[in-house]
Amino acid sequence: MVASEQSLGTRFLLYPQSPSTPGYDKPELVWVSDPQGSILAGPANDRMYVVRPNTDKAPYNYPYLPPYNGGRYPPAEPSPDGHWDHIPPDSPAFLGVHVFGCVARVLDVWEGYLGNRINWHFASTYDRLEIIPLIEWDNAQSGYGMLEFGYKPTPDGRRDLYALNFDVIAHEIGHSILFSEIGLPRPGLPPGPDLFAYHEGVSDLCSLIAMLHFDTAMDRLLRRGSGNLMALNELNRVAELADERQIRIAGNARKLTEVGNEVHDRSRPFTGGIFDTLVETYHDLCVQRGLVDLPRGSIPDARDIDSDLSHTFASAFRADYDLKHFHLKSALADARDIVAMGLAASWHKLDSETLTYADAAFAVCDALQEQGQGEAAETAAECLAWREIITPYDTFSLGRTQSRSAQWF
Ligand SMILES: [Zn+2]
Repeated sequence: MVASEQSLGTRFLLYPQSPSTPGYDKPELVWVSDPQGSILAGPANDRMYVVRPNTDKAPYNYPYLPPYNGGRYPPAEPSPDGHWDHIPPDSPAFLGVHVFGCVARVLDVWEGYLGNRINWHFASTYDRLEIIPLIEWDNAQSGYGMLEFGYKPTPDGRRDLYALNFDVIAHEIGHSILFSEIGLPRPGLPPGPDLFAYHEGVSDLCSLIAMLHFDTAMDRLLRRGSGNLMALNELNRVAELADERQIRIAGNARKLTEVGNEVHDRSRPFTGGIFDTLVETYHDLCVQRGLVDLPRGSIPDARDIDSDLSHTFASAFRADYDLKHFHLKSALADARDIVAMGLAASWHKLDSETLTYADAAFAVCDALQEQGQGEAAETAAECLAWREIITPYDTFSLGRTQSRSAQWF
């Protein structure tokens, strides 16, 4: 094997959504950055390994913790040339390979945005993440040093395997990334009121943005509304119709005063505010690049989906759609990267012991501004204010002044 081949990385087959989702029944070929041949039987590398118990393993529950020491099936083997796309999806070994590939992919995506390696938050106890792809359990969990999966029984008697669900895997790795970047809450100290809701929201966003690195997902999202993502929000907000779970969650219209204290419910306004920022940034780029025939400033807000403008807007996207698809896809990739870079850089300004929603929102706006994305920063401030996460009266508590936060209004 020559060095140039190694540097291409390693091939996996990954499902961008659970294969029972319409349009997502085929896995996509994805390259992860591990050099070809470096992922050993398991699969296993220097940061994680897969174990397949052949006994009735109970879910981990303190004081029962990794590593798993019971009986196990033999490890899956790479192809002779060091790749992992040779294992058919209906083979029992595929599940563990799929989870491993999804975790590696999510880490690749977010390490790219952060510009640094993500070290596990449990590194002082375990040097590697243990992945258990299937146990007899109707749940999935990520805990200190481990990730393990069961299945959801379906009404027709099948099993929806969580190990085949990219969203479940990416969401759990989102929590790990956030623990690594903003720290663990200090034991014995009560966490801030917004920390766990923020965690849920950001984990959903980590998954959403990682999903937007799959061609299948980008193509389907764009073609469904002829490139008009407002149409996607519109349908979804009426009846949560989106096929992709990440869009069903993020394409919501909830404001902070409309949600309760349950962490998933309370996570929705922040997730929705960042998603609206992404949608509006994409629409702005489409106009700036002349991809839709609309004057600048005539774009309805992603928040006000009932606007009279939305019909004009939809037909401007539909015109010559087939000729514009790849240009629009490139604009969506750019909007995705702008927002993801702002979110990733915001974590350097936050600390899990003191985090508030308002701090987290201003940190995104400031990070975008510092990255030269002034328009996206203003869009984010408008979207997060509409969600009632920030107001002109908030102060940014991380040693900043009131005028610092007021600049966004
Ligand atoms: Zn979660």
